[in-house]
Amino acid sequence: MPDVQVTSPALTDSPKLERQVSELVANINGEFGSLDFIPANARAEHQTLKKDEFYALLSVADLAVITPLRDGMNTTSMEFVIAQGRTKRSPVVLSEFMGISKHMENALMVNPWNLGDVAAAINQGLVMSEPEKLARHEELHRVRQGERARTPYIPRDVLESRYHAAKKRLFFFDYDGTLAPIVKTPSMAVPTPATLRALEKLAADARNVVYIISGRDGAFLEQHLGHLQNVGFSAEHGGFVRAPGTGNAWTNFTEKLDMSWMGEVEEVFRYYTEGERSGVGQFQCRQCQDLLENNLAHKRPIEVLVGKKNLEVRPIAVNKGEIVKRLLYLNPDAEFVFCAGDDKTDEDMFRALILFGTGSTKATLDAPLSVTLIDAEDAPPVELAIKPDCVFTTAVGQSSKRTLASWHVTTPAEIVEHMLGLVGEPTKRTAPAEEEEKVDSRL
Ligand SMILES: [Mg+2]
Repeated sequence: MPDVQVTSPALTDSPKLERQVSELVANINGEFGSLDFIPANARAEHQTLKKDEFYALLSVADLAVITPLRDGMNTTSMEFVIAQGRTKRSPVVLSEFMGISKHMENALMVNPWNLGDVAAAINQGLVMSEPEKLARHEELHRVRQGERARTPYIPRDVLESRYHAAKKRLFFFDYDGTLAPIVKTPSMAVPTPATLRALEKLAADARNVVYIISGRDGAFLEQHLGHLQNVGFSAEHGGFVRAPGTGNAWTNFTEKLDMSWMGEVEEVFRYYTEGERSGVGQFQCRQCQDLLENNLAHKRPIEVLVGKKNLEVRPIAVNKGEIVKRLLYLNPDAEFVFCAGDDKTDEDMFRALILFGTGSTKATLDAPLSVTLIDAEDAPPVELAIKPDCVFTTAVGQSSKRTLASWHVTTPAEIVEHMLGLVGEPTKRTAPAEEEEKVDSRL
């Protein structure tokens, strides 16, 4: 794929820089190009590029990479979104230092000083699924039109009518912040009687498959919810699963995966932690991350996760989205899906439930890694019975929160209320409540 680099007129011309760039372009083309393929093209906008030529380039691009180190006013990203409206809806990689970046939350945000980040975002953009491209583009387009990207409140009547019409239904609930409010002491996050009643009643219907998919460990879930024998559980972001009606038997998914990489990863971690008197600083953490990503991640079934204060390596088949895909794959006849969550890790579930391309009403699901790596390598794709308007992905939080979910409610109590409504328990109807800031949790 050719790379076209368009530079804006600089405040001060720098012939030296221009010469350096054209030398670099010549080197790249000399090494990777051929007679009919010129991989690198540098165009200085003010010299050679007409407006219509520029927009034509924007409209056919597979990816826009706009990564200035500092920037007052730059409208290229918006122009790109508009130019792509009728073409590919390609993703945008955007520098977080741009003034516009806080309004473009569905762009792939990078720190342009971190070349590893930039490279990873370029790769993510190029391999992104069509449905995700479309979802991100639509959000960006709404922002461009000056609308605040708001997630609408879940329409209770539609939810109830689709529920009653379905012969089989799937429920995926995150726990903390979704079924129980976030509390200061995580061990105090106990389910309310209403939550327990809603789960029990939902799970008692043989047409319902109900799972709680949490970052908590199995012991916590057992302690507070374990008596709900018809409810399934997934603990530690998909690492452990207790299927409904299997007593207290947990399956350790990580046990069935190739974990031979752990020794190598441990060695890398040890290298960066030994001999450090005051612990690992941010710089060492970055170096360690680079080493893991560049030398291990691409040849091992793992991904490297960077948190606020932690660096994590986990098997790629273990995350909440994989569990959702697995359950969907194992229940292709489901005609209704409800999935609720409140934080980043739940977005993996919402992403897994973006099943339909533009205008398409049929969904086919390839066997997910959590099936091919654990059960059968040659598991075939399945046709899903679900229709687009029967997938209710629901974010708990403000309607302005950035999410891939289609709907929102404001509090965990509203999730419970809606669930009680489905099983025919009279509850008060909450109007979309006044919104307040809430604490985010990684659980
Ligand atoms: Mg949560």
